[in-house]
Amino acid sequence: MRITDVRESTRPISSPIRNAYIDFSAMTISLVAVHTSVIRDGKPVIGYGFNSNGRYGQGGLIRDRFAPRLLAADPTSLLNEAADNLSPHRAWAAMMANEKPGGHGERSVAVGTLDMALWDACAKIAGEPLFHLLAKAHGLEPDPRVFVYAAGGYYYPGKNLDALKAEMRSYLDRGYTVVKMKIGGASLDDDRARIEAVLKEIGAEAQLAVDANGRFDLETAIAYARMLSDYPLYWYEEAGDPLDYRLQAVLGQYYPGRMATGENLFSHQDARNLLRYGGLRPDRDILQFDCALSYGLVEYLRTLDVLKQHGWSPRQCIPHGGHQMSLNIAAGLGLGGNESYPDLFQPYGGFPDSVRVSDGYITMPELPGIGFEGKSDLYQEMQALA
Ligand code: MG
Repeated sequence: MRITDVRESTRPISSPIRNAYIDFSAMTISLVAVHTSVIRDGKPVIGYGFNSNGRYGQGGLIRDRFAPRLLAADPTSLLNEAADNLSPHRAWAAMMANEKPGGHGERSVAVGTLDMALWDACAKIAGEPLFHLLAKAHGLEPDPRVFVYAAGGYYYPGKNLDALKAEMRSYLDRGYTVVKMKIGGASLDDDRARIEAVLKEIGAEAQLAVDANGRFDLETAIAYARMLSDYPLYWYEEAGDPLDYRLQAVLGQYYPGRMATGENLFSHQDARNLLRYGGLRPDRDILQFDCALSYGLVEYLRTLDVLKQHGWSPRQCIPHGGHQMSLNIAAGLGLGGNESYPDLFQPYGGFPDSVRVSDGYITMPELPGIGFEGKSDLYQEMQALA
């Protein structure tokens, strides 16, 4: 059993939207295929992965450094104890050989992308959905019902309040019970008007979360906290710079409601610093670490250990990114849910074709691996690469 090839392609997922920090007009994504010598149903098993969204494709790092290390490793050194499957943990160690600690810039994205493909291959070789494999490995009962919320409400040219309300209404029509919109890309008064318009539109049918994408300094974050406290919001997300733990801690004194952050922290060490110094409250706040951006599931398991040591339940995790990898982790390891972008970042985000959102939940289909084969537009891209 061996890895026979690793392919990468950097592709556009551009769109005219913007949040408080960036626009997505030149956004790209890395798609990878990890080929193995294992035959299932008469064909070699191929694992697929991609790097979530919001960070650019990592073709250079994958092709120059991480894929060659996987291919150069002694094939038996990448197998599990029983030597009947790949070990993503050992593959991770091979990829990270000769890498210094700290930093975590974009390297974590490259490794996270390959890690996704390795877990996909691993679950396909085992012949089961990844969430079953994960639950079994951790002595848990899988729960195929996963909470999802609709992320949108971006700024884009010419978008008025009517368009924003129509967008949110369309998420309700598709079965979501929590919707999210961007803030911080307009004035506080304009954002207040946007929030009021959306709350009026969704009424008692759904709840609203808001996301500042790390835009605010402490003074602005507090000014927004005061304004947001006037409304029954689901959460206030990523107010300040992701690495400014003190800002997050001070903000907690001004905002008693739920806060969410973590999508731009890319290692278990950064996650640990957030829990140590960010003043977040395990009884209400939400952690959004996205494995695809942060060294993959092998590292995410370390992050879940850190959470446990600090008295946090995995239920407080609702990852960023809207991909099927995190859906599997949620269903297998008992996370609180997953983000979803109903109209964006296609065909990479979203669910298998048979899956519908109902009352804010989806039910995982029983597909071997991560389940990419069940999403026809995405699988077509993957097959073209493989
Ligand atoms: Mg966010």
